Amino acid sequence: MAADFSWIQPHPHGIYVAPADCWIDPSRAVDNALVTHGHADHARGGHGKTVATPETLAIMKLRYATADGATPVAYGETLSLMGGVDATYIPAGHVLGSAQILLEHAGERVIVTGDYKRRPDPTCPPFEVTPCDILITEATFGLPVFSHPPIRQEIAKITDRLAAYPDACVLVGAYALGKAQRVIAEIRAAGHHDPIYLHGAMEKMCRLYQEHGVDLGELRLVADHDKDAMRGSVVVCPPSALNDRWSRRLPDPITAMASGWMRVRQRARQRNVELPLIISDHADWDELTQTIREVDPSESWITHGREEALLRWCQLNQRRARALALVGREEEDE
Ligand SMILES: [Zn+2]
Ligand SMILES: [Zn+2]
Repeated sequence: MAADFSWIQPHPHGIYVAPADCWIDPSRAVDNALVTHGHADHARGGHGKTVATPETLAIMKLRYATADGATPVAYGETLSLMGGVDATYIPAGHVLGSAQILLEHAGERVIVTGDYKRRPDPTCPPFEVTPCDILITEATFGLPVFSHPPIRQEIAKITDRLAAYPDACVLVGAYALGKAQRVIAEIRAAGHHDPIYLHGAMEKMCRLYQEHGVDLGELRLVADHDKDAMRGSVVVCPPSALNDRWSRRLPDPITAMASGWMRVRQRARQRNVELPLIISDHADWDELTQTIREVDPSESWITHGREEALLRWCQLNQRRARALALVGREEEDE
């Protein structure tokens, strides 16, 4: 095949690897899927065969009940697919089990990053810079205005409030896969070792993280305790529970929300959040451009969010780039 990368084909519902007849993160059920990580806009049930890291397969089993045809592949391990395509899973630093997928065929190297970030995260191994010809990168926060602050600074907002209001609790809204566990692990790293209370919807994923060796300290279920026991505590719930009746069982909750979108004041207002925490599991603008510079591909394909600004940055920096339009890549996991 000519060196035109025609073997790797972007479609609205996923990236098709023609010689291997497989799809990367397809948004509909296919015979052969390679999955980067467990968030719903990348992983789904119903595929004939699913290749992913053991952690991602465990997450998929918990969330989408996919058990059949699963092939685990460890970080750094290379899998030979049909049609002379090799696939290697490389840490992406996004959530537990998250991977970039390196595809090699006829001497050409293509990396699909999936979602990624460059900041340290105690719940997963860091993103590894890997040389390639084509880098297919996400761009969820692909605008210069998105610059995520250091996480320590955001976590301190929680612990400072607790110190100032010892009879209240801080209720943190965080997505159940990844964000919740990272926030808990960072609260621990900041020296807070009291029990942390969980909404019931967080329990199973936190247990899964703990079973995979992520230390989250002592976790308790809100439902098992009375109001007074939770004074002076951190409580973690899904964003949807922040303003619903459920929170009435808590002692004077101060509502917080952990999301990269908390940079946008209007979004914090929409959620009625007193304490917006700008904590993201995606690369910010500087991390996106740093990654393109460091990986230094001959071409970048940009997907998953605000493609235009990053496309423009590539042009201004004499780098070849194109935007891909994939459907269903939303911000639900952030
Ligand atoms: Zn994700
Ligand atoms: Zn995503």
